Amino acid sequence: MQQAGRVGSCDGNRMRPLLILDLDETLIYGSESRLHLDADFLVGPFHVYMRPHLEGFLRDTAEHYDLAIWSSASWGYVHAIADQLLPLVPKWQFVWSRSRCVSRMDPELMEVGFLKDLRKVKRLGRDLARVLIVDDSPQKVSRNYGNAIYIPRFEGDDADDALPPLARFVSSLRSEADFRSIEKRGWRNSQHLR
Ligand SMILES: [Mg+2]
Repeated sequence: MQQAGRVGSCDGNRMRPLLILDLDETLIYGSESRLHLDADFLVGPFHVYMRPHLEGFLRDTAEHYDLAIWSSASWGYVHAIADQLLPLVPKWQFVWSRSRCVSRMDPELMEVGFLKDLRKVKRLGRDLARVLIVDDSPQKVSRNYGNAIYIPRFEGDDADDALPPLARFVSSLRSEADFRSIEKRGWRNSQHLR
């Protein structure tokens, strides 16, 4: 529905904005053992639990955004989960896994970390001013923090309630010309509603 009194601030940019979603600890939790409830589905040895309110989150954000998945997990795991979630979305614009990430040695942890570099999304013809990426791991999106929204880790808590306010916040940004200029760190308490 058109909102009264709101003149779109993205004239000249007709493409729907893009919302890129992480999987593990953001949309779902994959556990090698069963938690106190049955999993929503199984992927290989993993009991996969959907974050509470995930269906409504995907439905509401898909009204205004193209949706995509980008996880640093393996190709097979990521695609199996994307397929399970596909009935909840019109389509995934892309489903990317670890092979699309940039690997980098973390000198403090002395282990390889994986970064999601949005230049790869720009090569798809996307204007990064109109791209958001949601992740529970700030370091994974450290090259594009202006596009990032951080969400608390989900580890199977069936009382988790992070997704409804995130859907409202993301939806409220949809007409902004440049998401990178918006302060996003306080989204849980944001009044950024137009
Ligand atoms: Mg994650």
